[in-house]
Amino acid sequence: MVCKNCREKPVIKLTNSNISLCKNCYIKYFEKKVKKTISDYKLIEKNDNIAIACSGGKDSTVLLYLIKKIIKGRKDIKITALAIDEGIHNYRDKSLEFLKAFCKKHEIELKIFSYKEEFSKTLDEILKTYKGIPCSICGVLRRYLLNKKSKELEATKLATGHNLDDESQSIIMNMFKNNIKMSARLGPITGIIKDERFIPRIKPLYFLTEKEVATYAFLKGFMDKFNECPNSPYSYRGYVRDMLNSLESKYPGTKHAIITSFLEIMPLLKNHYKKDQDAIKSCSLCNEPCSQEICKTCQYIENVIKA
Ligand code: SF4
Ligand SMILES: [Zn+2]
Ligand SMILES: [Zn+2]
Repeated sequence: MVCKNCREKPVIKLTNSNISLCKNCYIKYFEKKVKKTISDYKLIEKNDNIAIACSGGKDSTVLLYLIKKIIKGRKDIKITALAIDEGIHNYRDKSLEFLKAFCKKHEIELKIFSYKEEFSKTLDEILKTYKGIPCSICGVLRRYLLNKKSKELEATKLATGHNLDDESQSIIMNMFKNNIKMSARLGPITGIIKDERFIPRIKPLYFLTEKEVATYAFLKGFMDKFNECPNSPYSYRGYVRDMLNSLESKYPGTKHAIITSFLEIMPLLKNHYKKDQDAIKSCSLCNEPCSQEICKTCQYIENVIKA
């Protein structure tokens, strides 16, 4: 087998096709695909101030590197790496060390906010008493902080490293949990209507699989091993991820098919749930947007963290 473009030794066979590419051609292919997503969905616009959600993991590191590369020379666009330290011993501390060194090397401003400072406890401390699924509480606190801190940074967009695997998992999870309304918030750029309380989220890696992102990170020499959060095997997402991986290996193209069919119905979903978005209130305790009187984060603070 040889590279389709230059007949060099291939490093990867692309998912959903029979094409094999060598290192150089693969890097070009990957970067072109990210640029196309950004331009097709107008993810980056003039005068944008982009907060890039980073964890020190492969997806957000690739995202950070590529956004910096793509906007090179654009004086009107500002980027800041935004990291949340949940306080997960032997995991987040290590990935944040990597992120600090990466940002220093690539001259990117980095801001780190922690659960400990914002909520008075680390996730490890919270989980000593909270017996629910760790990702349920962690995901809520993390989304809350990312939105709040992006607003404080006066960001116009919040870029996240979500890839095709993440998105297909979210679509299936929302379906299996009869929560289709949540899918109206998905897509390469999120938000149903413009609301200044929500910073729009952009996902430049939307059309690339987990394997493709990992291959790019590896070929660029960003990292050679990928750590996984010790809490992730207990998540519902973990089950859905394993199920989709098993389907994909038996029926290649499954994940792409989920995304393609979702994108076809996405405009209808967004239109259908627009009125719900109009009804979004502000939390009476913290003022962040929410659907009830008190947001989920404040409920967790009162009932779990302070309890
Ligand atoms: S895997 Fe779950 S617990 Fe770990 S950082 Fe992500 S949301 Fe938090
Ligand atoms: Zn080649
Ligand atoms: Zn609140």
